[in-house]
Amino acid sequence: MAEEKFQFQSEAAELLKMMINSVYSNRDIFLRELISNASDALDKRRIERLRNSELADFTPEIRIAWDKEGRTLSVSDNGIGMTRDEMIQYLGTIAKSGTKEFLAAVKQEENQDQLIGQFGVGFYSVFMVADSVEVVSRKLGTAEACRFTSDGDGSYTLSEAARDCGTTVTLHLRPMAEGGKDYADEWTLRDIIHQYSDFIAWPIVMSVTRHKDGKETVEDETVNSQKAIWCRSESEVKEEEYREFYRHLTHDWKEPLAHIRLSAEGATSFKGLLFLPSEAPFDLFMNPKAGGISLYINRVFIMNDCQDLIPEYMRFLRGVVDSDDLPLNISREILQDEPIIRVIRRSTQRKVFNELKKMLESDREKYEKFWAAFGRIFKEGIVQDHEHAKTILDLALFHTTAGEENGGWTTLAAYRERMKPDQKGIYCLAGRDIAALKSSPKLEPFTKKGYEVLLMTDPVDEVILANVSMMGEDFPKLLNVGSGSVTPEGEEEQKENETRLKDMESDFAPLKEQALSALSERLEDVRPSLALTDSPACLRDSPNGLSFQMEQLLRAAGQTPPPQKRILELNVEHPLIRKLMGMAKDKDPQTADLISILYDQSLLLEGAALADPASFAKRVDKVMAQALGA
Ligand code: ADP
Repeated sequence: MAEEKFQFQSEAAELLKMMINSVYSNRDIFLRELISNASDALDKRRIERLRNSELADFTPEIRIAWDKEGRTLSVSDNGIGMTRDEMIQYLGTIAKSGTKEFLAAVKQEENQDQLIGQFGVGFYSVFMVADSVEVVSRKLGTAEACRFTSDGDGSYTLSEAARDCGTTVTLHLRPMAEGGKDYADEWTLRDIIHQYSDFIAWPIVMSVTRHKDGKETVEDETVNSQKAIWCRSESEVKEEEYREFYRHLTHDWKEPLAHIRLSAEGATSFKGLLFLPSEAPFDLFMNPKAGGISLYINRVFIMNDCQDLIPEYMRFLRGVVDSDDLPLNISREILQDEPIIRVIRRSTQRKVFNELKKMLESDREKYEKFWAAFGRIFKEGIVQDHEHAKTILDLALFHTTAGEENGGWTTLAAYRERMKPDQKGIYCLAGRDIAALKSSPKLEPFTKKGYEVLLMTDPVDEVILANVSMMGEDFPKLLNVGSGSVTPEGEEEQKENETRLKDMESDFAPLKEQALSALSERLEDVRPSLALTDSPACLRDSPNGLSFQMEQLLRAAGQTPPPQKRILELNVEHPLIRKLMGMAKDKDPQTADLISILYDQSLLLEGAALADPASFAKRVDKVMAQALGA
């Protein structure tokens, strides 16, 4: 095979250009990225070997070599290696999640430095320090090796090569910048490895030359401690070591929000280290199985994404669990039936609950960040895990009308403390977004009386609302104020209102009749109300149909539920409605238009889209023209 030339895919080329022109002061991270890739490749080969005993045994190693005069540096591993196609796919293309986001951020940001430092820029970071790079790799189980070379000009070449299974990345270093570091120097390299890659589980080996008693000796030396970070005592591990480890594990360029140490001794002993990321990765909500706990057995990596170790509603956690009690050749399939895994899972679950509780009590700001990112997922546990439903509900935060002094969030416990003695339960209102909920007329009867209402915007909230009975007898009921059947009035007041409404019945009847005939397909009933204050009208769900939220949810999921008829509640104390009642009585032909506008407005207030916006606009035009005498 002769040498062939290829163009980088455009995003890769862009990232490349950025690295070449980078003025980022911390170029050291290129070595972290190369060592991290080498370590992953060794993990992969080891696992292949565990699965397939016919493969030859091997001694995993990452080797660093340099040539001071020739200004080269190489990182080699005897890991899984890459085929020619994989080199095109992995080195010529970027498939990494978050790259687009990163490129967009860099374009806006003046301070490119910081971003480059945070982001796992992977292989491309070599161009911060090298003007050309060569990768020679041979995939496990194949006979040929392939050479990839690029000098970062937007193209690369591929040609034949020879080597054993594994990969060598050789950098042709740029001339040393003034005051810059020499990456072809033993002590510089040692420092960097110590700082960023000490925890790497495989030996990072250098062949070092020493002069002693006039004699020169050359010896292999392992320069990392290889100590698993989760096996070291808590006090011994520095915050930045946790950060580096998290980055190695997740390739997430943002700092984790917190880490949780796991440790159990006894019949089943295990250790572990979990991280709460600071933001949800983009696929977390779409893919409920995108879990990220790696299983280690006796300090050795076995598999990533081990979903049986945590419940699904904790799938935002990242980290490792390490047990000595499992057989090394354990497979994914038998994992879930393994009693030890079940023990680990229960104990991990408990620990996570405890840590979250601690955070809620001691660092509210951090907890709110966690909740904003993952609360939606965590809450699924209320429905999935009956045993812990109460624990999760106690950890849940809800938006509330009680205002910004609570940061807009409250726990149920805090709500209960603020409850007024005459309240019938915990009031809540479900809807699509906070802004729409905050301006909902349905809140008026409650805020008028000074009652606080929880605002619920997640799909799962609706299910929680429907399942409150699980909380036990002494727990106040969650009352959905959107339903129309929940009122804030006491018995006496209610009776009084009923009498007043009865007296008004004949005055209201013509308006009701005309509204029902104008909106016959959408309304089940039109009712007078004394509960609203500022708003003239609001829409309620019919108890006979789907809730409006559910209907929207089904539509969003691609289903087509039949259109639901709803109930229009009109505020008979509002001047507009009083006027309309008069117009209806006089059979004013404009009544129908006005009532249709009111209906559409009520829909808009719920954050919903109008079925026929053109007709709405036309009606509003007509009414405006009339008002202006045009
Ligand atoms: P990342 O490691 O974040 O996925 P990189 O740009 O560093 O991104 O690497 C891209 C891919 O190239 C890796 O995911 C891996 O599949 C492959 N790769 C890189 N280095 C090696 C290596 N030393 N051995 C085997 N595969 C490698």
